[in-house]
Amino acid sequence: MAAVTISNDPCLLCELAAHRDDPGDTWVLSEDRWFAGVLPGYEAPGWVVCGMRRHGEGPDSMNPVEAAEFGVVVQRVSAAIREATGAERIYLIAFGEHFPHLHFMLVPRPPGGPDDPRGVAHLARREELRDPVRATETANLIRSILNGSRNPEIS
Ligand SMILES: [Zn+2]
Repeated sequence: MAAVTISNDPCLLCELAAHRDDPGDTWVLSEDRWFAGVLPGYEAPGWVVCGMRRHGEGPDSMNPVEAAEFGVVVQRVSAAIREATGAERIYLIAFGEHFPHLHFMLVPRPPGGPDDPRGVAHLARREELRDPVRATETANLIRSILNGSRNPEIS
């Protein structure tokens, strides 16, 4: 079986981060050291990719300032996603296999019955849940919520 090679040159997430001053409709957060928005191919409402602005590979690549801000970014964006979507759970996912640039996904899981997909079964519904129009509308709402609760300790 042939090895799967994924091109990451140039780094897709560095390319996305470079456009932070030209955010379009899908950015929800643009800080000096972090960005967050809708990731192309993952346009399910409320699904947000957050990444470190500079290129670093893996959680151990964060410097002390980035490491301190990481938790604040996770909390703020997660709270905004919950408020925007009414999610019962917010999943925090980071593998770094396809794009080694340090990033993580925040994925809302709506309230549901005991037989509704949870965990990786919910993530597997990505194509079924894709709705770029609603994803953009939800991103706009998340951005508005974040702009109303801007943390002055991160600039
Ligand atoms: Zn990168």
